Amino acid sequence: AIQTVEVALGARSYRILVGAGLLAEAGRHLAQAGRPRQVAIVTDENLADRHLPALQTALAEAGIAAVAQVLPPGEGAKSFGSFERLCEWLLEVRIERRDMVLAFGGGVVGDLAGFAAAVLRRGTRFAQVPTTLLAQVDSAVGGKTAINTRFGKNLIGAFHQPELVLADTDLLDSLPPRELRAGYAEVLKYGLLGDRAFLDWLAAHGPAVLDGADGGAARAEAIARSCRAKAAFVAGDERESGDRALLNLGHTFGHALEAEAGMTGDLLHGEAVAVGMLCAAILSERRGLLGAADTAAVRRHLAAAGLPQSLAEIGGADWPAGRLYAHMRQDKKAEGGRLRFVLMRGLGNAFLADDVAEDEVRDTLDA
Ligand code: NAD
Ligand code: ZN
Repeated sequence: AIQTVEVALGARSYRILVGAGLLAEAGRHLAQAGRPRQVAIVTDENLADRHLPALQTALAEAGIAAVAQVLPPGEGAKSFGSFERLCEWLLEVRIERRDMVLAFGGGVVGDLAGFAAAVLRRGTRFAQVPTTLLAQVDSAVGGKTAINTRFGKNLIGAFHQPELVLADTDLLDSLPPRELRAGYAEVLKYGLLGDRAFLDWLAAHGPAVLDGADGGAARAEAIARSCRAKAAFVAGDERESGDRALLNLGHTFGHALEAEAGMTGDLLHGEAVAVGMLCAAILSERRGLLGAADTAAVRRHLAAAGLPQSLAEIGGADWPAGRLYAHMRQDKKAEGGRLRFVLMRGLGNAFLADDVAEDEVRDTLDA
């Protein structure tokens, strides 16, 4: 069964469809959303080999003409250079405003293609077929698009909502397991920050979400619930002024870990967020807001999902707490804001704290 998530944004709204087998129906769904004259598919090499022919067939069957641009995989695609090449290709193949840019890939492809669609001819139709768990539950929801600069990630971008998002759970079968687990950290985040019932559901069904052995039913449920959670925050706060910041649970710590790891090894965003969420739990526990049993439950959940639970596991056994704190300050200075943490008053009940002292952060990292 296909699940539908409505994303309401002021007067406009669009649908996220979630379920198995959606790729083969992409043409029909796009036609329903308003048949585009021509679709420009943006994807990467890992998807081109395995899944692009199926998407092209689906569009052709619905009588929709399509052209495709295949990028090298990886974060490098979110650069000015590749953005320029993509825009010029879109112009060369004569994509006009009533045509459509279709992002077919993970968050990298979605962010790049979405930004190109946002600025091409001052705004061209856009849709997404996200192919990583992270993209299906996070980056394809909310309308943020961006590229990277040497001054930092995602600093050049725009808000540009898609008209339709198709999250096909079958696509996750070919995703490297480590990428799947990293995406699961963001799923877990939605439970931890605001939905105790979802958290309990994940404790029971997390393994099925990860192995997909039930034909994708648990995945579809987890993705739909995650999209609903993010959509609710986005709808209330499209431009990130208030509550949307709760979505940063685990991310203040996580970004510092990513900054430190960036120099040495490889650490996936979701892995950093996993450790970051545990840090937020530990800090909350130290403030007497969270029981020791709750922190232990978070730790167990991460372990069961094959996610790291300590700095040591991500190669950070000897990262000094002071340097990690300096990364956090740096981040905030760049944004012109103050250091802000998402803490928990019980599992499934997060809140924003602007008054966290350096000592608390360092003690947490040392714990
Ligand atoms: P990604 O797009 O790099 O994909 C991860 C890897 O998996 C890539 O090598 C890709 O080629 C491969 N892959 C993707 N789908 C596959 C599939 N079905 N089968 C096999 N291989 C597949 O990484 P990601 O984690 O999806 O996205 C990370 C990006 O998302 C970052 O740039 C981040 O800034 C961005 N992001 C954006 C938002 C937003 O709101 N716009 C939110 C979170 C993250
Ligand atoms: Zn994240």
